[in-house]
Parts: sequence; C-alpha cells; structure tokens
Amino acid sequence: MAASVPAVSDLVAAARRQFTRSFGEETPQVAVCAPGRVNLIGEHTDYNQGFVLPMALPLVTVVVGSLNLGQDVTIVTVAEDADEPREVSFSLAGDNSALTPGVPRWANYVKGVIQHYRASPLPGFRAVVASSVPLGGGLSSSASLEVAIYTFLQQLKPDGGDNVAKALSCQKAEHTHAGVPCGIMDQLVSILGKEGQALLIDCRSLEVSPVPLVLPGPLILITNSNLKHSLANSEYAKRRQQCEEAATALGKKSLRDATMKELEGDLSDKVAARHVIEETERTLQAAEALRRGAYKEFGRLMVESHNSLRDLYEVSCRELDQLVSAALEVDGVFGSRMTGGGFGGCTVTLLEAHSVDKAILHMQERFSGTATFFITSPSEGARVLPLS
Ligand code: ADP
Ligand code: MG
Repeated sequence: MAASVPAVSDLVAAARRQFTRSFGEETPQVAVCAPGRVNLIGEHTDYNQGFVLPMALPLVTVVVGSLNLGQDVTIVTVAEDADEPREVSFSLAGDNSALTPGVPRWANYVKGVIQHYRASPLPGFRAVVASSVPLGGGLSSSASLEVAIYTFLQQLKPDGGDNVAKALSCQKAEHTHAGVPCGIMDQLVSILGKEGQALLIDCRSLEVSPVPLVLPGPLILITNSNLKHSLANSEYAKRRQQCEEAATALGKKSLRDATMKELEGDLSDKVAARHVIEETERTLQAAEALRRGAYKEFGRLMVESHNSLRDLYEVSCRELDQLVSAALEVDGVFGSRMTGGGFGGCTVTLLEAHSVDKAILHMQERFSGTATFFITSPSEGARVLPLS
C-alpha cells in the first residue's frame, strides 16, 4: 500500500502544537510551506547548465513562527534527525558570527538562509519546522527547508520578491553551510512549482517552461528505498569536478555546450561527459513527449536515463536497480528510474493508474529492503498559509 501524503493542514497543526509547547503561546503570526521535489528526468545535468524536468511534490516543509522584539532567534524542528538537539538559539546582533556552521547540523540550513537573505539586518524570531518530506531521501528536504525558511523570513522583512534571486540565495546557503555544491534545480522548483505541471528548467538561463502533467492520466509513483544516500555528498562533489575537468578539456565553459561528436576517440574515460551530454538531449526529448502525451516514449527515455546513471555516471546502487527492474516487469508501467543524486534515496515510476497496486506489490516482493511508496502529482511551490 502507498503511504498517504499528510495534509499540509495536519503538518501546520503539529507545528503549532510544538510552538505552544516551546513558547507558551497559542498562535504564531505566520505560517508558510515549501515543497520537496521529484526529478522526472535530467539527472546530474543542472550543475552542467543543462536541462532538468522536476515537479514540486505535495510533501512539504512547514514553518510557523513569530517576530521577536530583539535579535534573538530560536528555532525548533519536530523532525527526529539523528541525536541532534531539536532546538537551537542564537543572536543576530553584532557580526553574524552566530551564523557560522556548527551543530546541530540541521540548523546550518537555517543559518545559511539567514546569512544569504537579501534584506539585512533581519529581526529576531521564534519558529517551528515540521516536514513531510523524508529527510535524506533524495526528494530534497534540504531545499524545501531552505525555501520554507526564506519564505518565512520574507513575511518578517520583505526582500523585493525576485524568485530567481531567492532560489540563488537558498542554493548559496546549501553551498556555504551544508557543504553541498548543488545545482539550482531543487530550490527553483520548490519556489516555482505549479499544480498539474512539471517544469522544464534551462539551468543556464534559468528560464522555466511548464509542461502539463494533468490527471487523470498516468500516475507518478515515488518509491523510497529508505537507504540514506550517505555517499552522495562526497561522490556528488567528485562527479561535479569530473564534469568541470571534462568541459575544460573540450575547451567549453560547461558540458551544456559540448556535443557527442566532440567527444572523439576512446570514450571509455569520458563516461561522465557522455552521460551529461546525452541526458541533456534526453530531457528535451522527454519534455516534448510529455507535452504530446506520449507516455511510452517518455517512459523509454526514463529507462535510458536510469541505465546511463547506472553504467556511465555510476551513481546508482543495487537497491535502486532492483526497484527499477521490478517496476519495469509490471504491465502498465511506462518507465522507471532512480531520481536525485543517487546511492540510495528514491526511484520514480510513470505508470497507468490501474497498475499501481500491482506495481507496489511486485516491487515489495522483489526488493531486499523495506520501501515506502507515495503516489504523487505536481503541486504548488512555496506559499504563505492561512492561520485561523
Ligand atoms: P535530501 O535533500 O535529499 O532530503 P540532504 O542530505 O540534502 O537530503 O538533506 C537532508 C538534511 O536536511 C537532514 O539531514 C537535515 O539536516 C536537514 N533537514 C531537512 N528537513 C529538515 C527538517 N524538517 N528538520 C530538520 N532538519 C531538516
Ligand atoms: Mg538535499
């Protein structure tokens, strides 16, 4: 059975209960949320300035909170993340040294967003974070936390409201405060997501084109392997460096500008570049197929993407391969692939609605671990929520 996606209002209620416990007050002044995302195709292309095709999820991070009179910040998460304390306090007075990354690690995302917020100085605040995005599952709980915090801060002190600049600030927070040299996809889709639409993002121009994915039609099934992508950060940085070196060797600014023709000679040591160049092309084809409702073609491209990530880019793992193979054995499945950075996390499967139960059962049977399933559809990006 698929796990139910918690209603945003239930998350807000949970955050409010914690707000009352932590701060002894009934009602916070502000509530906001920002979604996680699933990338349908275009993996490891964003930091090569290529194309990606993600959609925002109904899984979200909620922040509720109020202004403080001074410059003190207290922030509490209801997430049970490792052994770290769930509450952290610091002061924004003085030279911002309180924003230096440290422990708890989860608070670094918050500190990073404050540091790169586009309207300083910020007032102090007290806030609670609650999320339905699985942490470390490849659905970008990190970007949803950054964007939710940024959106919360916008309610305390407006920043001019430029969405692309907002995404860039959140991305910078992840670079400087989590040490992850991520691309722009996660933050951009968490901000700009639209119900019923995947987003084709050109990661060079940051131009975003909606691609309708309206139900009834095929369903998007996300399968969380529940394997934390612990290798992901170090391997991610390594791949990113390989790509930069490959682009330099070809005399290009980024692999976005390279073609397969230019990758001459022995391709065996150019597998990373080959993945990126072909994946960028596949993503454009896939967006076109989706626009035409050509789901079989879209599914075929998903499978090609997975195989390339497994064999050329080498960021898949046995568990993700198992889940993808199992999904592809079921009638009514158009395509399936690993999604996100890799080494664990999730797969995404496009399939006919009537095949969902069969697909889940079969994947459960074939999978050596314990997977969690979410049936999702493209959802709204970051937003302010009513507080009644
Ligand atoms: P992903 O983005 O794929 O979920 P990451 O490793 O990039 O995985 O980010 C996960 C980390 O983000 C968590 O370990 C935690 O530090 C932080 N995080 C995300 N959401 C929350 C939350 N609601 N509360 C506390 N920390 C969070
Ligand atoms: Mg992340």
